[in-house]
Amino acid sequence: MTAYVFDFSQGSKDQKDLLGGKGANLAEMTNLGLPVPPGFTITTEACRAYLQEGGDPAGLAEQVSERLVALEETMERKLGDAGDPLLVSVRSGAKFSMPGMMETVLNVGLNDESVEGLARQSDDSRFAQDSYRRLLQMFGATVLGIESAVFSEALDAAKKAKGTDEDLDLDTDDLRDLVATYKQLIEEHAGRAFPQDPREQLDLAVNAVFDSWNTDRAALYRRQEQIPDDLGTAVNVQAMVFGNRGMDSGSGVAFTRDPATGNQGVYGDYLQNAQGEDVVAGIRNTVSLADMAEVDRTSHDELLEIMEKLEKHYHDMCDIEFTVEDGKLWMLQTRVGKRTPEAAFRIAGHMVDEGLIDLDEALRRVTGAQLAQLMFPRFDYSSERNLLAKGMNASPGAAVGKAVFDWATAVEWAERGEDVILVRKETSPDDLHGMVVAKGILTSRGGKTSHAAVVARGMGRTCVCGAEALDVDTKNAEFTVRGGTTIREGDVISIDGTTGEVFEGAVPVTDSAVVRWFEGDKDPEITDNPLVQAVARLVEHADQTRRLQVRTNADTGEDAARARRFGAQGIGLCRTEHMFLGERRELVEHLIIADDEAGQEKALDALLPQQRSDFLEILESMDGLPVTIRLIDPPLHEFLPDLTDLSVAMAVADVHGHRKKRQRKLLAAVQRLHEANPMLGLRGVRLGIVIPGLFTMQARAVLEAAAERIKAGGDPHPEIMIPLVGSVRELDLVKQRIMDVAADVQEEAGVAIDFSVGTMIELPRAALTADQIAGSADFFSFGTNDLTQMTWGFSRDDVEASFFSTYLEQGVFPVSPFESLDTEGVGTLVRTAAAKGREANPELHLGVCGEHGGDPASIHFFDEVGLDYVSCSPFRVPVARLEAGRSALG
Ligand code: PEP
Ligand code: MG
Repeated sequence: MTAYVFDFSQGSKDQKDLLGGKGANLAEMTNLGLPVPPGFTITTEACRAYLQEGGDPAGLAEQVSERLVALEETMERKLGDAGDPLLVSVRSGAKFSMPGMMETVLNVGLNDESVEGLARQSDDSRFAQDSYRRLLQMFGATVLGIESAVFSEALDAAKKAKGTDEDLDLDTDDLRDLVATYKQLIEEHAGRAFPQDPREQLDLAVNAVFDSWNTDRAALYRRQEQIPDDLGTAVNVQAMVFGNRGMDSGSGVAFTRDPATGNQGVYGDYLQNAQGEDVVAGIRNTVSLADMAEVDRTSHDELLEIMEKLEKHYHDMCDIEFTVEDGKLWMLQTRVGKRTPEAAFRIAGHMVDEGLIDLDEALRRVTGAQLAQLMFPRFDYSSERNLLAKGMNASPGAAVGKAVFDWATAVEWAERGEDVILVRKETSPDDLHGMVVAKGILTSRGGKTSHAAVVARGMGRTCVCGAEALDVDTKNAEFTVRGGTTIREGDVISIDGTTGEVFEGAVPVTDSAVVRWFEGDKDPEITDNPLVQAVARLVEHADQTRRLQVRTNADTGEDAARARRFGAQGIGLCRTEHMFLGERRELVEHLIIADDEAGQEKALDALLPQQRSDFLEILESMDGLPVTIRLIDPPLHEFLPDLTDLSVAMAVADVHGHRKKRQRKLLAAVQRLHEANPMLGLRGVRLGIVIPGLFTMQARAVLEAAAERIKAGGDPHPEIMIPLVGSVRELDLVKQRIMDVAADVQEEAGVAIDFSVGTMIELPRAALTADQIAGSADFFSFGTNDLTQMTWGFSRDDVEASFFSTYLEQGVFPVSPFESLDTEGVGTLVRTAAAKGREANPELHLGVCGEHGGDPASIHFFDEVGLDYVSCSPFRVPVARLEAGRSALG
């Protein structure tokens, strides 16, 4: 026979799977000898069986009876006894806390007779009637499924009849009348009478708690928090203690340290003559624990002693619910307390100093997500604000500025010292100048890996994307919130990249001390900041612990230098496409429309010195460290004028009889290069094969820059990377040309360059034939953005905003595969390619440079698969260092 019911004395804190969080911790406290009202836990296994079978599993009723008898013996009272009733609470308690999601019924055991017994025993008939009234209300709503408004309206009517707003003004007779009304309402709405049999009350309440696992709100909460649906909840049945039996009674919540700041010292609220619910609901002003000492010194001192004991026992900050009944302290709940990111780091540090935990454990107690939170400038949420819309939280931070609708205005206004937010439907590489100078970027289309999002994260720029309620009209320079406010160019808005919220006007912002410290700010205000010290200590410990190296994705000397200050050990991806915009764009146009090789060469010759100086700057800021430079990747037409715009211009020219020879040639080229699916078209290595001069020019620029650095006494380590390779033959074709260029450059310069040539693995075919490719590559870098796009067949620029919310809701995946690596699918390709590649070429160096390189869960996966490094945007480098350290701890 399965054991479904356990006395609190039979469990321990390590049994959360079976007893739920609350039950496991009640058991732990009971066994520590703390004053816990006695009771028992019905297991999650019983709940699962109940939900599966549609009723109580065999043996449950008998086991409950057995425990109930034992409880009655301990309490020397019988459940619902007419003379001196034992009353119990029936509370849910799943493995993971799901605050407010599931049901609780208090005062089970009261009926028309036992309410009089309670009145006599407590010598307080008002209290007895009020308790009965609360049971009817909770039971009616929770167990019998009656709208709670039915009861609250009757309560309001009773108060109105009495001419008051206060529950406390209702006397015994008023409450007795209310009890009668409630019973009548139950009959009317539920079609049955309130059960007078205490045991029936108990059984129905237990079933209601089981059923509440499957309410819509509980299911939704689980989806959001990624809690599995099949865990079920345990039910705790516990002898009632009352905090509302006069001024010698009360209820409170407490923490063993401050959960907001991490400060040492207890922290809590106490409310005299109140039940637990009253404390949280804030019906009256609570007092601090220090003030509690004034009103009830004995309970206060005992509480503090217990809190100390709990912390020493759990080796962590605990949160606690307690009740004082007639001067006697009772512990109702404890658990390891939730805390802010700031508190997490500070508490971990303090506990190391106090000898409660070691540094490894401290590192386990903090997360990269928490560190990321500490790095963003933040809005001061105590201020008043007007929410306009909510989009995707694409790149965290808080930005305030004047709305502008095109990059040129952004640049112009920023140059005259204005803070601007660039608002677009979506962004393209053209917008880059505007994005660089803007405080933040807001788009109405696109997901978290859209151009706007990726670029913004790369620059550490705040970004909200896919705010679909916004109708962005770039022509008229304004946007309208669906059915409301219009924001015009120059109007101030605030965007929160951490929450995705968009506000009207300026919401006040505060700076991150942690970022200032990473930047090397030596101001004592920063270096002496206790939060900064706690972060520094744990990031350093992570560095000493980790196996994985951390590089950065950076395209400019400035970004590279910042990433290096943030701890990057090289560049894992320098995208070169941004280097072909602005004034250089015209050279690319020349290249594409050139009639012959001579014309192409002229354009390439003009680009070469410019590229060389780009790479010089980057190699210099990463001197001594590896720098992976990727040859140009996106489809060429991204560098050409828009097909429609150009066609219209030509049509107009025709009407006016203008010749416009060069424009016509350009139009022909644009038409020729136009693709229905550019992501699957002429890009990456394909471009290098079709227009070989482009790749060799870039390779020459990289190597010449390296030679120049060597001559200047530098120590460059360039790694030339070929994108979008699907077959080893593609790689061989371009690699040969690069090797020829390298031989030339080294001979011309008279220096030997330490360089390597490798490829991205971003097509399933590349992963599946990695053994062949590895024979021609010094390194692989997994481009998991494209690899995800190509494996799922998801267009990365489109799907997140269009249907991912439905997919997430329906559980196709718990989190976007563009955000956190799909380890089962895409991850299998990575694992396979790494193993095959290493087997074919034991010297092969392996890394990842897709967005997943900065995602905590994905970093643990890459570590496990045995990659040598992850590469991520500069602002995520510290996060990756921390997570790589945590991953190494196992
Ligand atoms: C990738 O595909 O993962 C990658 C890093 O390249 P990009 O995002 O530039 O296509
Ligand atoms: Mg790619």
